[in-house]
Amino acid sequence: MEQKFINCSEPGHESNQANVICLEKNCHKHGLICSYCIIIDHKSHVSNCVPYSDFLQALSKINMAKVKESLNIISSEIIKWNS
Ligand SMILES: [Zn+2]
Ligand SMILES: [Zn+2]
Repeated sequence: MEQKFINCSEPGHESNQANVICLEKNCHKHGLICSYCIIIDHKSHVSNCVPYSDFLQALSKINMAKVKESLNIISSEIIKWNS
């Protein structure tokens, strides 16, 4: 699968690639974010923000149904944003 990044949709971040995923389920902006976003909105849970490439790798390894389910929700959001 070819990896295609999209630019961040936050105002002022347009030139920044959204290549990080916030996995914090309590975060109202969880999903695909850029490095500016981490500094602005995700400072309190940086440990739950992972590089997109790591996320894809983890997704392919995970077998636990529950975890997979929540990750699928996030990835379907990303697919929505990409289309
Ligand atoms: Zn951003
Ligand atoms: Zn977050």
